[in-house]
Amino acid sequence: MEGNVQRSLDAFLALRGPELIAVRRDLHAHAEPSYAEYRTTSLVAERLTAAGLRPKVLPRGTGLLVDVGSGETSDHPERAVVALRADLDALPMADEKDVPYRSTAPGACHACGHDVHTAVLLGTGLFLAEQAAAGLLPGPVRLIFQPAEEIGTGAQDVIAAGGMASVGRIFALHCDPRLDVGKLGIRSGAITAACDHIKVRVEGPGGHTARPHLTADVVYALGKIVTELPAALSRRVDPRSSLSLVWGRINAGSALNAIPDAGIAEGTVRCLDDEAWHAAPDLFGELVRSVASAYGVTAELTYLRNVPPTVNEATSARMFATAAEGMLGADMVVHTQQSLGGEDFAWYLDCVPGALARLGTRTPGAAVEYDLHQPSFDIDERAIGVGVRVMAATALTALWDSAASPEPPAREPLAGAADSSAP
Ligand SMILES: [Zn+2]
Ligand SMILES: [Zn+2]
Repeated sequence: MEGNVQRSLDAFLALRGPELIAVRRDLHAHAEPSYAEYRTTSLVAERLTAAGLRPKVLPRGTGLLVDVGSGETSDHPERAVVALRADLDALPMADEKDVPYRSTAPGACHACGHDVHTAVLLGTGLFLAEQAAAGLLPGPVRLIFQPAEEIGTGAQDVIAAGGMASVGRIFALHCDPRLDVGKLGIRSGAITAACDHIKVRVEGPGGHTARPHLTADVVYALGKIVTELPAALSRRVDPRSSLSLVWGRINAGSALNAIPDAGIAEGTVRCLDDEAWHAAPDLFGELVRSVASAYGVTAELTYLRNVPPTVNEATSARMFATAAEGMLGADMVVHTQQSLGGEDFAWYLDCVPGALARLGTRTPGAAVEYDLHQPSFDIDERAIGVGVRVMAATALTALWDSAASPEPPAREPLAGAADSSAP
């Protein structure tokens, strides 16, 4: 079966690989930031429609969902959908590369490789549509072309639009400029981190610095909060969760001999663990209240959620690895580290099991090292064909697996911390 898929993918990519590279370059040259992905959406919709598929654009006008294969040919037409996701948006920065496909959109650049993710998923969808037409797709696949990943809200739009309905598992790739092209990086458990924003505002009556006992010393209380909160985390939270708070800004007062009536501290909270992330706002609230009450000030906590950690489910991560080993060779699938970056794919994994893998985009032996979010970021375009192979094979692996087990394992609840055995 695997050999057949390999041969079909060889034939598909020999024919359409150059077209996918052209799509990536076209998207790169016409980079569109979060929620402005109109041209990108219509380009993808056009190609899918030409292949006989029926894409549905999301309510906001950017991003789309499309189902491939109904699963009618299988013995289990009710089988759970396997979802594959790409993100469409560029970053609000200038493109500093000197290449023919340099961004022509002022202040918009595909510096996170979402143009690559889009081209890969388009190619995967076109291949799977061919398989479905030939009666070779053993179940339904949903392609999710998601807007606005960079601002952390696009995944929630897809979920609100019903994109997770009937989905049993979800998979996605992200470019990794530190991994050679031809390789796939995968891990079970958390692969990206949570990053939230925290703000504490402290208030009191104000007064003379000669008589702090007659007022409430806002600056002293703020100082206590700024040092106590990060310190308390080491005793109140499992150290393995790496929940950390780092202040970036504090502000209080204007005169050296006057106790001010207000002060603020702001910072970021990062966390590697899903359970600790969910518990963080309540914990910070409790800590702020207890310090503030000891010094007679009032304190208000503003906690802004950004994204949770992306926690790869073990079975889905194994499916990714198995599929990629079959397509690329066992030595091309490597263990990857959890990064402290945020990725809104995490929101899908709050709903269903799934996994995110890293697609190598570095030319082996290249002198230039790229990083994500750099205005000079670029890839070895052979990664696009590799991505199509991996995504198509992963979807088929997941469908075959649910064909083999009468009860799809999809509905089991996600363990919060996922892989607690991970170091
Ligand atoms: Zn990014
Ligand atoms: Zn990204």
